[in-house]
Parts: sequence; C-alpha cells; structure tokens
Amino acid sequence: MIPFEYIRPSGQKAALDAIAKDASAQFIAGGTNLVDLMKKGVVSPQKLIDIGKLPLKEIKEANTGLHIGALALNSDVAENEIVKTKYSLLSQALYAGASAQLRNMATVGGNIMQRTRCTYFYDTTMPCNKRKPGSGCGALKGYNRMHAIFGASENCIAVHPSDMCVALTALNATILVSNNKGERKIPFGEFHRLPGDHPETDNTLQKGELITAIIIPENNLQHSCYLKIRDRASYAFALVSVAAALEIADGKTKDVRLAMGGVAHKPWRLTDAEKFLKGKPATENNFQQAAQIAIKGAKGYGNNNFKIKLASAAITEALNKAAGKA
Ligand code: SF4
Repeated sequence: MIPFEYIRPSGQKAALDAIAKDASAQFIAGGTNLVDLMKKGVVSPQKLIDIGKLPLKEIKEANTGLHIGALALNSDVAENEIVKTKYSLLSQALYAGASAQLRNMATVGGNIMQRTRCTYFYDTTMPCNKRKPGSGCGALKGYNRMHAIFGASENCIAVHPSDMCVALTALNATILVSNNKGERKIPFGEFHRLPGDHPETDNTLQKGELITAIIIPENNLQHSCYLKIRDRASYAFALVSVAAALEIADGKTKDVRLAMGGVAHKPWRLTDAEKFLKGKPATENNFQQAAQIAIKGAKGYGNNNFKIKLASAAITEALNKAAGKA
C-alpha cells in the first residue's frame, strides 16, 4: 500500500470542503471495499477523508417515505422494524448480501459505491479497461462465469456486486447527494451506469459529491421475495439474484416490481416483464411468461451462458415465492 494522508473532518461541510480541494481524495466510511482495493493497488488515493463519524445514520419515516442516512450500517437497516415490516424486500436483500461481520461494518452509502468483484479488475497484472482505460478486457475472452448477460459492451462485461442496490432499484428509491454548493436527488435507476466506452466510470456521482441519504417511497407491495443464487449459501456474490415485489388484489397483480443482480453493470430493472404482469392474474403461468420476456436480449460470453436459463428460472421462482405459491 502506498502512503496516504488521513483526515477526519468535524462535520459534513468540512468533509465537502476537503474533497472539493483535492482531486485525488476519497471518502471512506466502513472501508469494506475501499481498503481491499488499496491493498491490492487497484486504487491509490493520496488522501482519505473519514466520514464515519458524521451524523448520517438515522432511519426515520417522513412524508416522502423512509429516509435512511448514508452512514446507517447494513446490519441496522436489515434489523430495523420499519424496514422489516414495510420494506421487507430491502431487509431480505441485506441479509442475503454479506456475512454478519461485513454487515456490521458496511454502510448504505458504501454499499451503493462498491465496485465490481471481477477478478481481472483486482489483478493488476491483467488487462482491465475499468482499472486502466485502454488496456483491454481480460474477462471478455477469459474466465467470465460471474459476468454480465445484459447491457455489457466490448469494453467491459463486469457486474455490479450489490444485493441491497437491486432491492432499492425495485423499490424506486432516490439517492440524496450533496456538495459544497447544495444538494440534488438521483433516481436509483439512474445512479449506476452501463459500461459503454467508459467502464472506468461506475456511476453518475460527480467529483466533490457525497451520498447523504436514500429515500424509499411508501408502497403497497405486501408480497416480496429476494432470491439469491450463489455458489455458497454462507457468503458469496450472486450468480443471479431477483428482487420481486407484488401488490395483489382480487388475485390480480395490481403493482409489480422486478429487478435483477449479478447480470449487468448496474442493478437491472425488468420493466417489460413488469408491464406484462400488471393487471394479470398472479399465476405461475403468467410468472413464467414474464420470465421469458425478461431474458429477451440476454447474451452470454462463454462461461456464463448458463446464467440465461438460470435467470429465467430464478425470476419465476422469486415471483412464485413472493405470491406464496412456491
Ligand atoms: Fe475489467 Fe470490466 Fe473486463 Fe472485468 S469485465 S476485466 S472489470 S473491463
């Protein structure tokens, strides 16, 4: 690890002023991803601004929905009674997301900002356009079992690793960010980006901005299931995951939210499948048809071809479980 400066600002304004002054500085909170990246030489910020003590941990209900401070721990969110009862999809995703030890360190903001777990990205002896633009993509013709089947480009086929973000995408969350000039809101689905020609850029956060909170609007999605398919049940990133939430009235799907993880550079919303299901009876047959619609356009890169069939089966199973039919 190369030497770096470490500061702990007294408040949010001081933190925003510090990052505005220094192009190479980075915020750190739980550090569960950033410290690994620094140890492996993938990133080397010259200054770390520790925001861990800022008062951004509150979880509270407001007129606009549920506000979760960016520094709330993943474990506190997963165990929160309001989250468990009204936003169960989020709680399920957080429990699926990591070990208890990691949940106790990782923050909501850090979870959103975590970077891909593509092994070529972490191996500085291998080409990787995300780590070193223009160097090539080791995974494209390499070992790509964990990689994307949607929205990839010739430059990068990596996937976003978060489970929490898949649930927040399905729940239509909004991300609140601040810089030293003010604040803005970013719809969750517009925060992470597809790789295109610039896989080095993971998201739409601007330099000098800090995630301060997420807001989840109220909903009537009383039936939900976060299904994660992975190599080890104890702790592993998703091969594919599905966030499914339903509002069912008179046996029909009044509202439906579907998103996937482990399949794209960003949490992947299944809008065509949602449109198909809205207003239709909540039956296994319709869930199977929705899954077929959802996987249209999926593309494998060799080792990960199996994900296409797996994704279809996982969508059907998640919907069945959410509707109490599994
Ligand atoms: Fe790098 Fe993306 Fe290719 Fe992985 S998939 S090696 S992160 S460019």
